[in-house]
Amino acid sequence: ARAELTLLRDAEALTLDGVAVKLEANIELPEEAEEAMRAGADGIGLFRSEFLFMGRSSLPTEEEQYQAYASVVRTMQGRPVTIRTLDIGADKTLDGEIAVATNPALGLRAIRYCLANPEIFAAQLRALLRAAAHGPVRILIPMISHMHEVRAVKQAIIAAGRELDARNEPHDKNVALGAMVEIPAIAIAIEPFVEALDFLSIGTNDLIQYTLAIDRGDSDVADLYDPMHPAVLRLIAHTINAAERGGKPVAVCGEMAGDSSMTRMLLGLGLKEFSMHPQQLLDVKKEIRLAHSNALRVKVASALNRAERIDLASLEG
Ligand code: PEP
Ligand code: MG
Repeated sequence: ARAELTLLRDAEALTLDGVAVKLEANIELPEEAEEAMRAGADGIGLFRSEFLFMGRSSLPTEEEQYQAYASVVRTMQGRPVTIRTLDIGADKTLDGEIAVATNPALGLRAIRYCLANPEIFAAQLRALLRAAAHGPVRILIPMISHMHEVRAVKQAIIAAGRELDARNEPHDKNVALGAMVEIPAIAIAIEPFVEALDFLSIGTNDLIQYTLAIDRGDSDVADLYDPMHPAVLRLIAHTINAAERGGKPVAVCGEMAGDSSMTRMLLGLGLKEFSMHPQQLLDVKKEIRLAHSNALRVKVASALNRAERIDLASLEG
């Protein structure tokens, strides 16, 4: 079994009909990049940077963040490293911050928090641009819902670059900028985001929560948290199709991407980039190598047109 896994790690993620798929890793701490490399990941698809900020009484400095991001970039040896800016609030809170929002999941979280706290955001952006001097860094913005937030982020990145210029600090301003698609509004009205951004990453964990109005952490309604709901799948399909038309890469980085029972369905939706926990990578690759992408696309599209539930068993073989 070990030899089989090694073979699989070095094998390409190609479907039977020759569609090449990118398989990337989700990480929460810089050390986990080693595991991503061991699993043969094509890059880091999601580095949840908030874990550098949690479980401590002070904020990490620009320097500390720079060291953490640069160490991941070095470990990945030229493979793209997608670092999500601080996604704090709701299920992830900073120590000493008291949740006062009436409804934290709909409150001042993630990019909203960062734009309301420009000094915290600026320090993170400077650290990211500095890390980009060591290899390909992609900046990923969580919980975007408005185009004006994209414009504000671009301004903040320009300002961070100017400040580093003034300090004569080595950095690279030419980082790719992308957004998480995890609020239904942007999945529905996706075109301007495709146009304005370099890439997209679909966060199905939150996209399901907000589409179905089911708190992702509430066990009383966990049975209604349904990744296969046709409305959820239509939002994913719409996003993938729009990105494809606009020539921009799109990934799924929510839990669905690492669930090998859903690999065929996601291929059927046209997905070519999956990001997941490193331990799930080889099982997903195995499924990809046994799948016929074109046949799956036809089956999945016809079910979605009728808003029918997709029976995963019907996609096998
Ligand atoms: C998501 O929402 O799907 C996601 C990948 O981010 P997180 O689980 O950290 O909210
Ligand atoms: Mg999320």
